[in-house]
Amino acid sequence: MKRHLVWFRNDLRVDDHPALSHACASKDDAVVAIYFYCAKQFAAHDVGRNQQYLIQKALSNLSQSLEQLNIKLIILTSDDFASSIDRLSQVIDDLAITDLHLNIEYAYNERQRDKQACQVLSNKTNCHRYVADSLVAPWDVLSKQGTPFKVFTPFSKAVYEAMDKSPIHPLSMPTARAKENLNAFQTVSNSDLDEVKPTAKFCPDISENNVHKQLADFVDDSIIDYKKDRDFPAIPGTSQISPALAIGSVSIRRCYEFARAKRGEGAKTWIKELIWRDFYRSVMWHFPYVARGQGFLPVDKKIHWNRSEDDFEKWCAGSTGVPIVDSAMRQLLTTGWMHNRLRMVVASFLCKNLWIDWRWGERFFAQHLYDFDYASNNGGWQWSASIGTDAAPYFRVFNPVSQAERFDPDAEFIRKWIEPLQSLPSKAIHQFEQKPLPNYPSCMVDIKDSRKKAIEQFKVAKESEDD
Ligand SMILES: Cc1cc2nc3c(=O)[nH]c(=O)nc-3n(C[C@H](O)[C@H](O)[C@H](O)COP(=O)(O)OP(=O)(O)OC[C@H]3O[C@@H](n4cnc5c(N)ncnc54)[C@H](O)[C@@H]3O)c2cc1C
Repeated sequence: MKRHLVWFRNDLRVDDHPALSHACASKDDAVVAIYFYCAKQFAAHDVGRNQQYLIQKALSNLSQSLEQLNIKLIILTSDDFASSIDRLSQVIDDLAITDLHLNIEYAYNERQRDKQACQVLSNKTNCHRYVADSLVAPWDVLSKQGTPFKVFTPFSKAVYEAMDKSPIHPLSMPTARAKENLNAFQTVSNSDLDEVKPTAKFCPDISENNVHKQLADFVDDSIIDYKKDRDFPAIPGTSQISPALAIGSVSIRRCYEFARAKRGEGAKTWIKELIWRDFYRSVMWHFPYVARGQGFLPVDKKIHWNRSEDDFEKWCAGSTGVPIVDSAMRQLLTTGWMHNRLRMVVASFLCKNLWIDWRWGERFFAQHLYDFDYASNNGGWQWSASIGTDAAPYFRVFNPVSQAERFDPDAEFIRKWIEPLQSLPSKAIHQFEQKPLPNYPSCMVDIKDSRKKAIEQFKVAKESEDD
Protein backbone atom coordinates (compact mmCIF):
# COMPACT_ATOMS: atom_id res chain seq x y z
CA MET A 1 0.00 0.00 0.00
CA LYS A 2 1.29 3.46 -0.87
CA ARG A 3 1.23 6.40 1.53
CA HIS A 4 0.56 9.74 -0.20
CA LEU A 5 1.23 13.26 1.09
CA VAL A 6 -0.48 16.23 -0.59
CA TRP A 7 1.41 19.49 -0.05
CA PHE A 8 -1.06 22.40 -0.14
CA ARG A 9 0.19 25.96 -0.80
CA ASN A 10 -1.77 28.59 -2.77
CA ASP A 11 -4.40 26.02 -3.75
CA LEU A 12 -6.59 25.81 -0.65
CA ARG A 13 -9.49 23.82 -2.10
CA VAL A 14 -10.66 20.28 -2.75
CA ASP A 15 -12.32 20.97 -6.12
CA ASP A 16 -10.19 20.74 -9.28
CA HIS A 17 -7.05 19.95 -7.31
CA PRO A 18 -4.83 17.69 -9.43
CA ALA A 19 -2.38 16.89 -6.60
CA LEU A 20 -5.21 15.79 -4.28
CA SER A 21 -7.08 13.88 -6.98
CA HIS A 22 -4.00 11.95 -8.09
CA ALA A 23 -3.08 11.11 -4.51
CA CYS A 24 -6.60 9.74 -4.03
CA ALA A 25 -6.59 7.73 -7.28
CA SER A 26 -6.41 4.34 -5.58
CA LYS A 27 -8.96 3.74 -2.85
CA ASP A 28 -6.64 1.32 -1.07
CA ASP A 29 -3.81 3.81 -0.49
CA ALA A 30 -3.43 6.07 2.55
CA VAL A 31 -3.60 9.85 2.03
CA VAL A 32 -2.68 12.78 4.26
CA ALA A 33 -2.32 16.51 3.56
CA ILE A 34 0.05 19.19 4.84
CA TYR A 35 0.37 23.00 4.84
CA PHE A 36 3.31 25.06 6.13
CA TYR A 37 2.43 28.45 7.54
CA CYS A 38 5.60 30.52 7.01
CA ALA A 39 5.12 33.84 8.83
CA LYS A 40 8.60 35.18 8.03
CA GLN A 41 8.17 34.27 4.38
CA PHE A 42 4.87 36.19 4.30
CA ALA A 43 6.71 39.20 5.71
CA ALA A 44 9.53 38.85 3.17
CA HIS A 45 6.96 38.70 0.36
CA ASP A 46 4.96 41.65 1.78
CA VAL A 47 1.85 39.51 2.17
CA GLY A 48 -0.26 41.76 4.38
CA ARG A 49 -2.59 41.02 7.25
CA ASN A 50 -5.64 40.95 5.01
CA GLN A 51 -4.42 38.11 2.86
CA GLN A 52 -2.89 36.27 5.82
CA TYR A 53 -6.28 36.41 7.53
CA LEU A 54 -7.92 35.02 4.40
CA ILE A 55 -5.40 32.18 4.28
CA GLN A 56 -6.13 31.29 7.90
CA LYS A 57 -9.86 31.20 7.14
CA ALA A 58 -9.26 29.12 4.03
CA LEU A 59 -7.11 26.67 6.02
CA SER A 60 -9.87 26.17 8.52
CA ASN A 61 -12.38 25.57 5.66
CA LEU A 62 -9.97 23.22 3.92
CA SER A 63 -9.36 21.25 7.10
CA GLN A 64 -13.13 20.67 7.43
CA SER A 65 -13.58 19.75 3.74
CA LEU A 66 -10.71 17.28 3.93
CA GLU A 67 -12.03 15.81 7.15
CA GLN A 68 -15.28 15.03 5.35
CA LEU A 69 -13.15 13.08 2.89
CA ASN A 70 -11.50 11.36 5.87
CA ILE A 71 -8.19 13.07 5.13
CA LYS A 72 -6.24 14.81 7.87
CA LEU A 73 -4.74 18.24 7.16
CA ILE A 74 -1.54 18.78 9.12
CA ILE A 75 -0.80 22.47 9.61
CA LEU A 76 2.74 23.27 10.74
CA THR A 77 4.42 26.60 11.29
CA SER A 78 7.83 27.18 9.85
CA ASP A 79 9.87 30.35 9.51
CA ASP A 80 10.44 30.36 5.79
CA PHE A 81 10.53 28.21 2.68
CA ALA A 82 13.95 26.73 3.48
CA SER A 83 12.92 25.51 6.92
CA SER A 84 9.63 24.15 5.55
CA ILE A 85 11.65 21.75 3.39
CA ASP A 86 13.47 20.45 6.50
CA ARG A 87 10.18 19.94 8.33
CA LEU A 88 8.63 18.30 5.28
CA SER A 89 11.54 15.89 5.10
CA GLN A 90 11.01 15.00 8.77
CA VAL A 91 7.27 14.40 8.24
CA ILE A 92 7.98 12.20 5.23
CA ASP A 93 10.25 10.07 7.43
CA ASP A 94 7.88 10.00 10.41
CA LEU A 95 4.85 9.02 8.33
CA ALA A 96 6.72 6.72 5.91
CA ILE A 97 5.40 8.67 2.91
CA THR A 98 6.01 7.00 -0.44
CA ASP A 99 4.60 9.72 -2.73
CA LEU A 100 4.56 13.52 -2.45
CA HIS A 101 2.06 15.46 -4.63
CA LEU A 102 2.11 19.18 -5.31
CA ASN A 103 0.62 21.71 -7.71
CA ILE A 104 3.27 23.85 -9.40
CA GLU A 105 3.65 27.50 -8.40
CA TYR A 106 5.18 29.87 -10.95
CA ALA A 107 6.73 32.69 -8.92
CA TYR A 108 10.51 32.71 -8.51
CA ASN A 109 11.05 31.83 -4.83
CA GLU A 110 8.29 29.23 -4.87
CA ARG A 111 9.84 27.65 -7.92
CA GLN A 112 13.27 27.53 -6.26
CA ARG A 113 11.71 26.02 -3.13
CA ASP A 114 9.99 23.25 -5.11
CA LYS A 115 13.10 22.49 -7.12
CA GLN A 116 15.13 22.19 -3.94
CA ALA A 117 12.43 20.14 -2.16
CA CYS A 118 12.19 17.62 -4.99
CA GLN A 119 15.99 17.35 -5.19
CA VAL A 120 16.39 16.80 -1.45
CA LEU A 121 13.44 14.44 -1.10
CA SER A 122 13.74 12.37 -4.25
CA ASN A 123 15.91 9.76 -2.54
CA LYS A 124 13.14 8.95 -0.06
CA THR A 125 9.85 9.63 -1.87
CA ASN A 126 8.40 10.01 -5.37
CA CYS A 127 7.67 13.66 -6.18
CA HIS A 128 4.70 14.31 -8.48
CA ARG A 129 4.08 17.84 -9.81
CA TYR A 130 0.92 19.05 -11.56
CA VAL A 131 -0.27 22.09 -13.49
CA ALA A 132 -3.20 23.71 -11.68
CA ASP A 133 -2.66 27.46 -11.47
CA SER A 134 -3.10 28.50 -15.10
CA LEU A 135 -5.35 27.66 -18.02
CA VAL A 136 -2.31 26.45 -19.95
CA ALA A 137 1.19 25.80 -18.55
CA PRO A 138 3.62 28.66 -19.39
CA TRP A 139 6.03 26.28 -21.13
CA ASP A 140 3.20 25.17 -23.46
CA VAL A 141 2.48 28.68 -24.76
CA LEU A 142 5.33 29.62 -27.07
CA SER A 143 5.68 31.33 -30.42
CA LYS A 144 6.29 29.33 -33.61
CA GLN A 145 10.01 29.97 -32.99
CA GLY A 146 9.70 28.38 -29.54
CA THR A 147 10.22 31.67 -27.69
CA PRO A 148 8.02 33.09 -24.92
CA PHE A 149 5.57 35.84 -25.85
CA LYS A 150 6.23 39.39 -24.70
CA VAL A 151 2.94 40.79 -26.02
CA PHE A 152 -0.55 39.83 -24.86
CA THR A 153 -2.53 39.47 -28.11
CA PRO A 154 -0.45 36.71 -29.75
CA PHE A 155 -0.10 35.07 -26.33
CA SER A 156 -3.88 34.92 -25.92
CA LYS A 157 -4.26 33.50 -29.43
CA ALA A 158 -1.83 30.74 -28.54
CA VAL A 159 -3.74 30.04 -25.29
CA TYR A 160 -7.02 29.64 -27.23
CA GLU A 161 -5.29 27.30 -29.67
CA ALA A 162 -3.83 25.23 -26.83
CA MET A 163 -7.26 25.01 -25.15
CA ASP A 164 -8.85 23.93 -28.46
CA LYS A 165 -6.24 21.20 -28.82
CA SER A 166 -6.47 20.00 -25.21
CA PRO A 167 -9.82 21.12 -23.81
CA ILE A 168 -9.92 21.97 -20.13
CA HIS A 169 -11.82 19.54 -17.88
CA PRO A 170 -11.70 20.61 -14.24
CA LEU A 171 -11.51 17.68 -11.82
CA SER A 172 -14.32 16.98 -9.35
CA MET A 173 -13.40 16.68 -5.72
CA PRO A 174 -12.34 13.12 -4.83
CA THR A 175 -14.75 10.75 -3.09
CA ALA A 176 -14.39 10.17 0.64
CA ARG A 177 -11.87 7.63 1.82
CA ALA A 178 -12.51 4.94 4.41
CA LYS A 179 -12.77 6.24 7.98
CA GLU A 180 -9.51 4.50 8.98
CA ASN A 181 -7.60 6.83 6.67
CA LEU A 182 -8.32 9.77 8.97
CA ASN A 183 -6.88 7.96 11.96
CA ALA A 184 -3.82 6.60 10.17
CA PHE A 185 -1.87 9.85 10.55
CA GLN A 186 -2.73 11.14 14.01
CA THR A 187 0.88 10.96 15.23
CA VAL A 188 1.74 14.43 13.91
CA SER A 189 -0.04 17.24 15.74
CA ASN A 190 -0.86 20.63 14.31
CA SER A 191 0.92 23.85 15.31
CA ASP A 192 -1.13 26.68 16.80
CA LEU A 193 -1.25 29.64 14.46
CA ASP A 194 -0.96 33.17 15.82
CA GLU A 195 -4.30 34.61 14.85
CA VAL A 196 -4.00 37.51 12.39
CA LYS A 197 -6.56 40.32 12.34
CA PRO A 198 -7.31 41.99 9.01
CA THR A 199 -6.80 45.73 8.55
CA ALA A 200 -9.85 46.01 6.27
CA LYS A 201 -13.33 46.37 7.74
CA PHE A 202 -14.84 43.74 5.46
CA CYS A 203 -13.78 40.27 4.47
CA PRO A 204 -14.91 38.28 1.43
CA ASP A 205 -16.43 34.82 1.96
CA ILE A 206 -13.96 32.58 0.17
CA SER A 207 -15.44 29.22 1.18
CA GLU A 208 -15.60 26.94 -1.84
CA ASN A 209 -19.39 26.63 -1.79
CA ASN A 210 -19.87 30.37 -1.62
CA VAL A 211 -17.33 31.07 -4.36
CA HIS A 212 -19.00 28.57 -6.71
CA LYS A 213 -22.34 30.25 -6.01
CA GLN A 214 -20.77 33.67 -6.59
CA LEU A 215 -19.41 32.45 -9.93
CA ALA A 216 -22.74 30.92 -10.96
CA ASP A 217 -24.59 34.15 -10.06
CA PHE A 218 -22.05 36.28 -11.91
CA VAL A 219 -22.26 34.12 -15.02
CA ASP A 220 -26.09 33.97 -14.89
CA ASP A 221 -26.78 37.62 -14.12
CA SER A 222 -23.84 39.89 -14.88
CA ILE A 223 -21.44 38.40 -17.40
CA ILE A 224 -23.73 39.41 -20.27
CA ASP A 225 -23.07 43.08 -19.42
CA TYR A 226 -19.43 42.61 -18.36
CA LYS A 227 -17.94 44.28 -21.41
CA LYS A 228 -20.12 47.35 -20.91
CA ASP A 229 -20.06 47.58 -17.10
CA ARG A 230 -16.62 46.43 -16.07
CA ASP A 231 -15.00 49.87 -16.25
CA PHE A 232 -17.47 51.67 -13.99
CA PRO A 233 -16.47 51.37 -10.34
CA ALA A 234 -19.89 52.45 -9.03
CA ILE A 235 -21.44 49.37 -10.70
CA PRO A 236 -20.75 45.88 -9.33
CA GLY A 237 -19.97 44.81 -12.90
CA THR A 238 -17.01 42.48 -12.26
CA SER A 239 -16.91 39.07 -10.59
CA GLN A 240 -14.85 40.02 -7.50
CA ILE A 241 -13.58 36.46 -7.62
CA SER A 242 -9.95 37.58 -7.29
CA PRO A 243 -9.48 36.99 -3.50
CA ALA A 244 -10.60 33.35 -3.92
CA LEU A 245 -8.35 32.92 -6.94
CA ALA A 246 -5.39 34.42 -5.11
CA ILE A 247 -5.46 31.92 -2.26
CA GLY A 248 -6.74 29.15 -4.49
CA SER A 249 -10.13 28.39 -2.96
CA VAL A 250 -11.31 28.28 -6.57
CA SER A 251 -9.31 27.18 -9.59
CA ILE A 252 -8.80 29.26 -12.72
CA ARG A 253 -9.93 26.29 -14.79
CA ARG A 254 -13.22 26.11 -12.86
CA CYS A 255 -13.73 29.84 -13.54
CA TYR A 256 -13.14 29.23 -17.22
CA GLU A 257 -15.52 26.27 -17.22
CA PHE A 258 -18.31 28.42 -15.74
CA ALA A 259 -17.88 31.10 -18.41
CA ARG A 260 -17.28 28.81 -21.38
CA ALA A 261 -20.88 27.63 -21.22
CA LYS A 262 -22.03 31.21 -21.97
CA ARG A 263 -21.98 32.79 -25.38
CA GLY A 264 -21.65 36.50 -26.17
CA GLU A 265 -19.21 39.36 -25.92
CA GLY A 266 -19.44 39.59 -22.12
CA ALA A 267 -18.22 36.03 -21.54
CA LYS A 268 -15.57 36.42 -24.23
CA THR A 269 -14.23 39.58 -22.61
CA TRP A 270 -14.21 37.96 -19.17
CA ILE A 271 -12.28 34.93 -20.43
CA LYS A 272 -9.78 37.35 -21.96
CA GLU A 273 -9.20 38.76 -18.47
CA LEU A 274 -8.57 35.25 -17.16
CA ILE A 275 -5.94 34.93 -19.89
CA TRP A 276 -4.26 38.15 -18.68
CA ARG A 277 -3.70 36.26 -15.45
CA ASP A 278 -2.02 33.46 -17.42
CA PHE A 279 0.00 36.04 -19.35
CA TYR A 280 1.60 37.50 -16.22
CA ARG A 281 2.32 33.98 -14.95
CA SER A 282 4.04 33.23 -18.22
CA VAL A 283 6.12 36.42 -17.93
CA MET A 284 7.14 35.44 -14.40
CA TRP A 285 8.06 31.94 -15.51
CA HIS A 286 10.08 32.88 -18.59
CA PHE A 287 11.61 36.14 -17.31
CA PRO A 288 12.08 35.43 -13.59
CA TYR A 289 14.16 38.59 -13.06
CA VAL A 290 10.88 40.58 -12.99
CA ALA A 291 10.18 38.88 -9.64
CA ARG A 292 13.40 40.27 -8.20
CA GLY A 293 12.52 43.94 -8.24
CA GLN A 294 13.59 44.56 -11.82
CA GLY A 295 11.56 46.09 -14.60
CA PHE A 296 11.05 43.97 -17.71
CA LEU A 297 12.47 46.81 -19.84
CA PRO A 298 16.04 47.93 -19.11
CA VAL A 299 14.99 51.62 -19.13
CA ASP A 300 13.72 50.99 -15.59
CA LYS A 301 17.32 51.11 -14.32
CA LYS A 302 17.85 54.57 -15.81
CA ILE A 303 14.96 56.28 -14.09
CA HIS A 304 15.63 58.47 -11.04
CA TRP A 305 12.42 58.24 -9.07
CA ASN A 306 11.07 60.72 -6.56
CA ARG A 307 11.77 59.26 -3.12
CA SER A 308 9.59 61.61 -1.08
CA GLU A 309 8.04 59.67 1.80
CA ASP A 310 5.59 62.54 2.37
CA ASP A 311 4.24 62.36 -1.17
CA PHE A 312 3.94 58.60 -0.92
CA GLU A 313 2.13 58.82 2.44
CA LYS A 314 -0.51 61.10 0.92
CA TRP A 315 -1.14 58.63 -1.87
CA CYS A 316 -1.36 55.71 0.61
CA ALA A 317 -3.81 57.54 2.85
CA GLY A 318 -6.07 58.70 0.01
CA SER A 319 -5.21 62.37 0.64
CA THR A 320 -3.76 63.47 -2.68
CA GLY A 321 -6.54 65.96 -3.36
CA VAL A 322 -7.57 64.06 -6.54
CA PRO A 323 -11.04 62.67 -5.77
CA ILE A 324 -10.92 59.59 -8.02
CA VAL A 325 -7.49 58.60 -6.70
CA ASP A 326 -8.42 59.20 -3.07
CA SER A 327 -11.75 57.37 -3.28
CA ALA A 328 -9.99 54.36 -4.82
CA MET A 329 -7.31 54.29 -2.12
CA ARG A 330 -10.00 54.55 0.55
CA GLN A 331 -11.85 51.65 -1.05
CA LEU A 332 -8.63 49.63 -0.80
CA LEU A 333 -8.01 50.56 2.85
CA THR A 334 -11.59 49.80 3.90
CA THR A 335 -12.37 46.70 1.83
CA GLY A 336 -8.98 45.21 0.88
CA TRP A 337 -10.04 45.26 -2.78
CA MET A 338 -9.92 47.87 -5.57
CA HIS A 339 -11.67 48.03 -8.90
CA ASN A 340 -9.38 47.27 -11.89
CA ARG A 341 -9.97 50.60 -13.66
CA LEU A 342 -8.99 52.40 -10.47
CA ARG A 343 -5.89 50.26 -9.95
CA MET A 344 -4.71 51.61 -13.30
CA VAL A 345 -5.67 55.19 -12.38
CA VAL A 346 -3.95 55.22 -8.97
CA ALA A 347 -0.88 53.40 -10.30
CA SER A 348 -0.51 55.85 -13.17
CA PHE A 349 -0.92 58.77 -10.75
CA LEU A 350 1.76 57.40 -8.42
CA CYS A 351 4.32 56.57 -11.10
CA LYS A 352 3.69 59.31 -13.62
CA ASN A 353 2.26 62.32 -11.79
CA LEU A 354 4.13 61.83 -8.50
CA TRP A 355 7.05 60.08 -10.24
CA ILE A 356 7.35 57.64 -7.35
CA ASP A 357 8.99 54.25 -7.83
CA TRP A 358 6.42 51.68 -8.97
CA ARG A 359 7.97 49.18 -6.50
CA TRP A 360 6.63 51.28 -3.62
CA GLY A 361 3.11 51.04 -5.01
CA GLU A 362 3.48 47.36 -5.76
CA ARG A 363 4.48 46.75 -2.15
CA PHE A 364 1.63 48.81 -0.72
CA PHE A 365 -0.89 46.87 -2.82
CA ALA A 366 0.65 43.57 -1.68
CA GLN A 367 0.34 44.63 1.94
CA HIS A 368 -3.35 45.58 1.63
CA LEU A 369 -5.06 43.53 -1.09
CA TYR A 370 -7.00 40.42 -0.17
CA ASP A 371 -6.39 39.33 -3.74
CA PHE A 372 -2.64 40.03 -3.77
CA ASP A 373 -1.18 37.87 -6.50
CA TYR A 374 2.53 38.24 -7.14
CA ALA A 375 2.44 37.85 -10.91
CA SER A 376 -0.68 39.96 -11.60
CA ASN A 377 0.35 42.68 -9.17
CA ASN A 378 3.88 42.88 -10.56
CA GLY A 379 2.54 42.80 -14.12
CA GLY A 380 -0.07 45.48 -13.39
CA TRP A 381 2.48 47.80 -11.80
CA GLN A 382 5.10 47.30 -14.48
CA TRP A 383 2.42 47.92 -17.13
CA SER A 384 1.32 51.13 -15.41
CA ALA A 385 4.90 52.38 -15.05
CA SER A 386 5.56 51.65 -18.76
CA ILE A 387 8.54 49.43 -17.97
CA GLY A 388 6.82 46.02 -18.33
CA THR A 389 5.89 43.59 -21.10
CA ASP A 390 3.30 44.99 -23.46
CA ALA A 391 3.30 48.04 -21.20
CA ALA A 392 1.41 51.28 -21.65
CA PRO A 393 3.65 53.52 -23.83
CA TYR A 394 5.50 56.01 -21.62
CA PHE A 395 3.67 58.98 -23.11
CA ARG A 396 0.34 57.43 -22.13
CA VAL A 397 -0.44 59.00 -18.79
CA PHE A 398 -3.95 58.46 -17.46
CA ASN A 399 -5.57 61.82 -16.81
CA PRO A 400 -7.41 61.30 -13.51
CA VAL A 401 -9.85 64.10 -14.37
CA SER A 402 -11.02 62.63 -17.66
CA GLN A 403 -10.93 59.11 -16.18
CA ALA A 404 -13.32 60.26 -13.45
CA GLU A 405 -15.57 62.11 -15.90
CA ARG A 406 -15.73 59.07 -18.15
CA PHE A 407 -16.00 56.22 -15.66
CA ASP A 408 -17.67 57.89 -12.68
CA PRO A 409 -19.64 60.63 -14.45
CA ASP A 410 -22.09 61.23 -11.60
CA ALA A 411 -19.28 61.03 -9.02
CA GLU A 412 -21.29 58.30 -7.34
CA PHE A 413 -18.22 56.23 -6.47
CA ILE A 414 -16.27 59.26 -5.30
CA ARG A 415 -19.08 60.40 -3.01
CA LYS A 416 -19.40 56.94 -1.51
CA TRP A 417 -15.83 57.01 -0.26
CA ILE A 418 -15.16 60.70 0.49
CA GLU A 419 -17.60 61.96 3.06
CA PRO A 420 -17.00 65.74 2.77
CA LEU A 421 -17.87 65.56 -0.94
CA GLN A 422 -21.21 63.82 -0.40
CA SER A 423 -23.40 66.88 -0.83
CA LEU A 424 -21.51 68.42 -3.76
CA PRO A 425 -22.72 68.26 -7.38
CA SER A 426 -20.65 66.01 -9.63
CA LYS A 427 -19.55 68.96 -11.79
CA ALA A 428 -17.93 70.69 -8.82
CA ILE A 429 -16.20 67.45 -7.84
CA HIS A 430 -14.79 66.90 -11.31
CA GLN A 431 -13.62 70.53 -11.45
CA PHE A 432 -11.57 70.23 -8.24
CA GLU A 433 -8.56 71.80 -9.94
CA GLN A 434 -10.35 75.04 -10.74
CA LYS A 435 -12.03 75.57 -7.35
CA PRO A 436 -10.88 73.93 -4.09
CA LEU A 437 -13.46 71.63 -2.50
CA PRO A 438 -14.61 72.31 1.09
CA ASN A 439 -13.04 70.14 3.82
CA TYR A 440 -10.90 68.38 1.29
CA PRO A 441 -7.18 68.83 0.49
CA SER A 442 -6.18 70.73 -2.61
CA CYS A 443 -4.49 68.72 -5.34
CA MET A 444 -0.89 67.93 -4.35
CA VAL A 445 0.50 68.37 -7.88
CA ASP A 446 -0.37 70.22 -11.03
CA ILE A 447 -1.74 67.38 -13.14
CA LYS A 448 -0.81 68.79 -16.54
CA ASP A 449 2.67 69.95 -15.51
CA SER A 450 3.54 66.72 -13.74
CA ARG A 451 2.40 64.71 -16.74
CA LYS A 452 4.61 66.77 -19.04
CA LYS A 453 7.56 66.43 -16.68
CA ALA A 454 7.11 62.65 -16.47
CA ILE A 455 7.17 62.28 -20.24
CA GLU A 456 10.33 64.40 -20.47
CA GLN A 457 12.06 62.41 -17.71
CA PHE A 458 11.12 59.17 -19.40
CA LYS A 459 12.51 60.42 -22.68
CA VAL A 460 15.80 61.33 -20.97
CA ALA A 461 15.96 57.88 -19.36
CA LYS A 462 15.34 56.20 -22.70
CA GLU A 463 18.02 58.27 -24.42
CA SER A 464 20.54 57.46 -21.67
CA GLU A 465 19.99 53.74 -22.32
CA ASP A 466 22.43 54.02 -25.21
CA ASP A 467 25.19 55.52 -22.98
C1 LIG B 1 -1.52 48.07 -10.63
C2 LIG B 1 -2.34 46.80 -10.67
C3 LIG B 1 -2.19 45.85 -9.67
C4 LIG B 1 -2.94 44.65 -9.70
N1 LIG B 1 -2.77 43.73 -8.69
C5 LIG B 1 -3.45 42.56 -8.73
C6 LIG B 1 -3.27 41.58 -7.72
O1 LIG B 1 -2.46 41.71 -6.79
N2 LIG B 1 -4.04 40.45 -7.79
C7 LIG B 1 -4.93 40.23 -8.81
O2 LIG B 1 -5.60 39.19 -8.82
N3 LIG B 1 -5.08 41.13 -9.79
C8 LIG B 1 -4.39 42.29 -9.79
N4 LIG B 1 -4.59 43.22 -10.77
C9 LIG B 1 -5.49 42.89 -11.90
C10 LIG B 1 -6.97 43.28 -11.72
O3 LIG B 1 -7.07 44.59 -11.29
C11 LIG B 1 -7.72 42.36 -10.75
O4 LIG B 1 -7.49 41.01 -11.09
C12 LIG B 1 -9.24 42.60 -10.79
O5 LIG B 1 -9.52 43.93 -10.45
C13 LIG B 1 -9.92 41.67 -9.81
O6 LIG B 1 -11.29 41.93 -9.74
P1 LIG B 1 -12.35 40.88 -10.29
O7 LIG B 1 -12.09 39.53 -9.71
O8 LIG B 1 -13.70 41.47 -10.06
O9 LIG B 1 -12.00 40.84 -11.83
P2 LIG B 1 -12.84 40.40 -13.11
O10 LIG B 1 -12.94 41.59 -13.99
O11 LIG B 1 -14.10 39.71 -12.76
O12 LIG B 1 -11.84 39.38 -13.83
C14 LIG B 1 -11.82 37.99 -13.49
C15 LIG B 1 -10.42 37.57 -13.13
O13 LIG B 1 -9.54 37.77 -14.23
C16 LIG B 1 -8.24 38.09 -13.76
N5 LIG B 1 -7.88 39.45 -14.22
C17 LIG B 1 -8.71 40.45 -14.53
N6 LIG B 1 -8.01 41.54 -14.94
C18 LIG B 1 -6.71 41.18 -14.87
C19 LIG B 1 -5.48 41.87 -15.15
N7 LIG B 1 -5.45 43.12 -15.62
N8 LIG B 1 -4.33 41.21 -14.93
C20 LIG B 1 -4.31 39.93 -14.48
N9 LIG B 1 -5.45 39.24 -14.20
C21 LIG B 1 -6.62 39.86 -14.39
C22 LIG B 1 -8.32 38.09 -12.25
O14 LIG B 1 -7.91 36.82 -11.78
C23 LIG B 1 -9.80 38.34 -11.99
O15 LIG B 1 -10.24 37.86 -10.74
C24 LIG B 1 -3.86 44.43 -10.77
C25 LIG B 1 -4.00 45.39 -11.77
C26 LIG B 1 -3.26 46.57 -11.72
C27 LIG B 1 -3.45 47.60 -12.81
